[in-house]
Amino acid sequence: MTQLVDIKPHPRMREAETPKTPVDEPKTGPRVYLETLGCQMNEADSALIIGQLRARGYRRVSQPSEADIVLLNTCAVREKAEERVYGRTSQLLKHRRQNPDLKFGITGCMAEHLRDKVTQKAPHISLVVGPDSYRRIGDLVDRAREGETIVDVKLDKTEVYEGLDGLADDDGVSGQVTIQRGCDKFCTFCVVPFTRGRERGVPPREVLRATRALAERGYSEVMLLGQTVNSYYYEDVTFAALLRAVAQVDGIDRIRFTSPYPVDFSDELIATMAELPEVCPYVHLPLQSGSDRMLSTMKRGYTRAEFLDLVKRMRMQIPDLALSTDIMVGFCGETEQDHQDTLSAMREVQFDSAFMFRYSDRGITYASKRMEDDVPSEVKARRLQEVINLQEEFTRASHSARIGQTEQVLLSKISRRKDRMVGRTPRFQKVLLPLDAGQPGELVSATIFATTGHSLHGRLAESK
Ligand code: SF4
Repeated sequence: MTQLVDIKPHPRMREAETPKTPVDEPKTGPRVYLETLGCQMNEADSALIIGQLRARGYRRVSQPSEADIVLLNTCAVREKAEERVYGRTSQLLKHRRQNPDLKFGITGCMAEHLRDKVTQKAPHISLVVGPDSYRRIGDLVDRAREGETIVDVKLDKTEVYEGLDGLADDDGVSGQVTIQRGCDKFCTFCVVPFTRGRERGVPPREVLRATRALAERGYSEVMLLGQTVNSYYYEDVTFAALLRAVAQVDGIDRIRFTSPYPVDFSDELIATMAELPEVCPYVHLPLQSGSDRMLSTMKRGYTRAEFLDLVKRMRMQIPDLALSTDIMVGFCGETEQDHQDTLSAMREVQFDSAFMFRYSDRGITYASKRMEDDVPSEVKARRLQEVINLQEEFTRASHSARIGQTEQVLLSKISRRKDRMVGRTPRFQKVLLPLDAGQPGELVSATIFATTGHSLHGRLAESK
């Protein structure tokens, strides 16, 4: 795997690290172990689940061997998602040897997708809870622990979890607030509209309440989450208006959002990003393909020319904008010319980073039912490699261009090797600084002197 680009997992699809047990974890009460697969929406949902269980008297443990119930918060976007659920829960089953009463449950997109099938194929799983049922999770987990088999996967057009607080296992610097649930776009390759239901916006009052709660707990950055986050609306409140309101929250210095939908990236939003210093100049703008024919087959809703025009307008108005994207190769019917069109679109935009995948059938999508997955595996592999090779050039150039520049770095944690402080620039580039550069949560000025792979290396530009 290259050091310069993320082939997989996608940042919205990465495996969670082994959770840390928060220092204020209660010493008594039933114990829950939760593992998260998938996107940032799923991570935010895991925080919500833990928040609900904590309110019910549960405590989170960091090892499945210590748990009374093991939950797997699943993702349907990943390749071989079903096998992964069965495989992982079977692996975890060995912990029943020490604790015969140990229960297993799955939550998230695959729960909705697999429904009753899972309790037949994997009878050790006695709890199946879909993404719109977390308000009841405490009661459902209690009942599963008492021996009931529970399947609660009904999608709810109105559930946005207003008033519920999550308990995230994060760095305490950058927090997440879900502002939208579900998706109505129905891209032909995507499972989300089927597993997470219809799009609905979280009321602005709730977004502001959750953001203020983060600020009160010391967070200085907020990431607003939604499947098509900029399509957000609530009554007459647009996403741009919501950004303006969030920027007013005391203590929040940086606002990020993911993932926007190109069609709904309005001029109002571009102007708002350009105007508000709190909104970071970084946008993950999924292109998927540079071929009009494929964009139409994918039902993405925009043409290549419209996407390129949007990029041009964004770059003209938002100073020093960084762009990342998603590229999918080998979708149904993709020809060599379509692939060349993707490469040429990448050359035109020169994204700062990209997440690149080969298409694979997800079972429940429109493409899965109506289209032929006809690009041979070896062709997909070759096209993916060509896309990766090209992106490496742009990623390397994007990093090298920062050498000699002074960046505002928000420190977030100590590096895994414990020899550096880690932080991010507004453009979302990772910076490694000396250990004594400051504490997590501090904003420091750093001069960049080198770059390796995904990281910039810096030193403090001035004494604090
Ligand atoms: S916009 Fe398309 S790809 Fe994104 S979540 Fe909705 S259906 Fe899926």
